[in-house]
Amino acid sequence: MPIAKNHLVAVFGTSLIRKMFNEGTRLKAEHGEENVFDFSLGNPIVPPPPEFSEAIIRIMKEDIPGKHAYMTNSGYRETREFVARFLTEEQGVPLHMDNIVMTCGAGAALTLLFQAILNVGDNVVVSIPNFVVYKTYVENFGGELKTVPCQENFLLDLEAMEKAINRKTAAVLINSPNNPCGVIYPQEQIDALAELLERKSREYDRAIYLVSDEPYRQIVFDDYVVPPIFPSYKHSIIVSSYSKSLSIPGERIGWTAIHPEADEGDLIVKVMTTATTGLGFTNAPALMQRAIVEVNGKTVDPEIYRKKRDLLAGPLKEMGYDFILPHGTFYIFIKAPGGDDMKFVDILQNELILAVPGTGFNMPGYFRLSCCVEDDVIIRSLPGFKKAIEKTIE
Ligand code: PLP
Repeated sequence: MPIAKNHLVAVFGTSLIRKMFNEGTRLKAEHGEENVFDFSLGNPIVPPPPEFSEAIIRIMKEDIPGKHAYMTNSGYRETREFVARFLTEEQGVPLHMDNIVMTCGAGAALTLLFQAILNVGDNVVVSIPNFVVYKTYVENFGGELKTVPCQENFLLDLEAMEKAINRKTAAVLINSPNNPCGVIYPQEQIDALAELLERKSREYDRAIYLVSDEPYRQIVFDDYVVPPIFPSYKHSIIVSSYSKSLSIPGERIGWTAIHPEADEGDLIVKVMTTATTGLGFTNAPALMQRAIVEVNGKTVDPEIYRKKRDLLAGPLKEMGYDFILPHGTFYIFIKAPGGDDMKFVDILQNELILAVPGTGFNMPGYFRLSCCVEDDVIIRSLPGFKKAIEKTIE
């Protein structure tokens, strides 16, 4: 077979989200676009803040020497200084531009980071439910993704994590607010996790990194806050992107920030900076790097997603669907009525509603809805949700 078998496993095993997306395309062609309710993909529909387009137009009109040229792989000095300043304020720990590597989104940030910290046979521990592509990011470099159960309310089960960590553990990976369940890990959990990692790092005589994947940090509702990671644990690394906060996932712009006191932090930055060439990313897009400095921390309005969440969550609760109201993100993770997520997603599909089975996030028995749809789609989909749950009660 002239194709890498490992990759085929990844393609077939991890792409339930894409599968649903493709299924949506087929159903739309068959039944008409407006009659299919596609809650499968987290592709933001809210336009970026106006400051973003204004910045792009301004930059394009400016006469900047080498505007479209290669630059230092880790990114423009001004951009890294901007991100370092921004994070210093957010995290309350002073950062320098040399702690920052600009990347082609959070996905590339994780890929480069795992290339820098994983040796073949190392593992990365993650709590379920987890973003489906983590497995590939880790396996790309001969690592193993070890998934551990979470508590009933989706918070971290620190005892399960402790059991999973061993001398081959290079990192614990967390994602808060979480895709798919929308839960934010509170300060007490971050502190307890930090204490656990300090103890385990001593026991195994290696720094076990805490990697925090935070592309949804700015999409938070009600009075929830995402606690900073850096003050709790020095061997920590944050990866993020502007994909969701600025609604620009197609523009591929993100970063990695390494705690200034992390063990081998300088070396990680060096390896990541070199790895960008080897992996073919070379550098994060030049235009986007300039734009995010000018946008200066503006984000899409999370209220828009909060309203969509409530528009969907209120009626679903009344119909008898069982879920925790998400603290952030634009997803709702719901217990599959009848218990079988694959079966229930099929039932929904008969009502022309597309959802992603929890199996795609290592958590069978649930399904994920993405609120990246127009309000009208939510409203018109409700009778279908009602019929679907009634079918499982019959
Ligand atoms: N991490 C999580 C939890 C995500 O949900 C996503 C994208 O949906 C990514 C990483 C990748 O983000 P990016 O588009 O910035 O590469």
